[in-house]
Amino acid sequence: MVSQSKEIIRGSCLCGGVRFEITGRYSPIGLCHCSKCRKVSGTASNAALYTAASSLRWQAGNDLVQDFSLADGWGSTFCHTCGSPLPRLHSNGKIYFVPAGLLDDDPRVKVERHIYVGSKTSWDEIAGDGLQFEKDDPELRK
Ligand SMILES: [Zn+2]
Ligand SMILES: [Zn+2]
Repeated sequence: MVSQSKEIIRGSCLCGGVRFEITGRYSPIGLCHCSKCRKVSGTASNAALYTAASSLRWQAGNDLVQDFSLADGWGSTFCHTCGSPLPRLHSNGKIYFVPAGLLDDDPRVKVERHIYVGSKTSWDEIAGDGLQFEKDDPELRK
């Protein structure tokens, strides 16, 4: 994991019912341009950073956390009240993917990776100088 920061940053959903803190180190932001992330986010790509499972602390709204998974296990965690996507545990159980738009504090990290660029939609224009991967981020497969 590429670690950038050690300060505590807070996040919450649109209705404020779910709140969490990241207490450990976390990655720069990655944008996923795959078709599933388009559905989940409702836009061109899904911006997320990741952190160790032990570094994410749920502060409120555990009863609002809902999960939807496809047959292959891919899915979304979201707030039952407002529908905001929420941090989701990777299938390896070791890291959380945290939707970057939920963060209430500035994480002070940049977009460093674009994944599934090979399946981006025609109106999705990638800006910046982040690395671009045709499919998955090889770092997350280790
Ligand atoms: Zn909510
Ligand atoms: Zn994706």
